[in-house]
Amino acid sequence: MTTPSPKQHHLETELVHAGTLRSAFGETSEALFLTQGHVYDSAEQCEARFKGDDPGFIYARFSNPTVAMLERRMAAFEGAEACRATATGMAAVTAALMGLVRAGDHVVAARALFGSCRYVVEEHLPRFGVTSTLVDGTDLDAWRAAVTPETKVFFLESPANPTLEVIDIAAVAGIAKACGAKLVVDNVFATPLWQRPLALGADCVVYSATKHIDGQGRCLGGLILGSNQLIQDNLHTPLRQTGPAMSPFNAWVMLKSLETLPLRVRRQTETAGMVADWLAGRSEVARLIYPGRADHPQADIIARQMSGASTLVAFEVHGGKAGAFRFLNALTLIRISNNLGDAKSLVVHPGTTTHQRFTPEVRAQMGVGEGLVRFSAGLEHPDDLIADIAAALAAI
Ligand SMILES: *Cc1c(COP(=O)(O)O)cnc(C)c1O
Repeated sequence: MTTPSPKQHHLETELVHAGTLRSAFGETSEALFLTQGHVYDSAEQCEARFKGDDPGFIYARFSNPTVAMLERRMAAFEGAEACRATATGMAAVTAALMGLVRAGDHVVAARALFGSCRYVVEEHLPRFGVTSTLVDGTDLDAWRAAVTPETKVFFLESPANPTLEVIDIAAVAGIAKACGAKLVVDNVFATPLWQRPLALGADCVVYSATKHIDGQGRCLGGLILGSNQLIQDNLHTPLRQTGPAMSPFNAWVMLKSLETLPLRVRRQTETAGMVADWLAGRSEVARLIYPGRADHPQADIIARQMSGASTLVAFEVHGGKAGAFRFLNALTLIRISNNLGDAKSLVVHPGTTTHQRFTPEVRAQMGVGEGLVRFSAGLEHPDDLIADIAAALAAI
């Protein structure tokens, strides 16, 4: 296999070329190596491969050429030394958090988290003796106050799902550093295009590649990025031995999707901004949260830490759950689905789906009101989307 010499290009160029491992056939498009293992010329070579003296591939639970291309391309995108792909976003979150803690350790996390992320922090880690404190992520004093001598990890999502609440990543990274904890950032909502947590001081970034990275609603996937040392010391062996590996087929889909990610995410962000501005003037809308607008509660932080806004818009309609349901049911083009970052515009009622398992009190604390709707902008023409939304609002 040949690898192009590493040169620093613009992001769009890296996303088309970086990490390619071209085989002896000289294929133009990245090859799909749909193989669970590899054969060896001799027993000696096989021994050397297992000992780590020969750097080739062994078994797809450890690594695979197509998965490696995705990892190399994502590392170039994120500006990270190392990347590991996993089967789902939740496998990435769980592996990253569990790799950084031991029984007796403590985790501090922002309370506005994706439902499954909050489950891992609040219910899964405690089963192994890891305690946690959930804080209002926008309150820096709350992060400081939650630290104990056992605190090893800080975890946050920004913008958060589904409230689009934004946390000052550099400030939280500073607090983490001061107490010797590692900061893990779930960067799904921002996408690697609009926010670079490692440059802001985070130690580890995780993605659900299921969202914008696939971007066409086909495959599940997850990614973990950080320094060589962080990955090697904490995650390399647990990932190999516990087996949350990404399938080579899914890696191939994601790899090809990275080529078009800037085109898609830029267009989806423009469309989301147009929808948000249109919604802002409507009497049916009680509250609107969009990171690209000056009326976002953390607009000053967004200006400092994000280079673009969001492909998502959150808004609360009057009439609570009944109002939100009437709106969802009246849409004809925009579909009801819990995915996001998809080429198809999608809408979801978080209170009865992604955040359904929480009590109404916890939901309210997380900012998930009964009338809250989350809209994910797709690649359709914005005028068609706004017409669909206008007709559905009239049905409330
Ligand atoms: C979807 C999502 C996840 C989980 O990803 P899966 O690929 O569904 O496992 C984690 N965090 C955030 C913010 C998400 O939106």
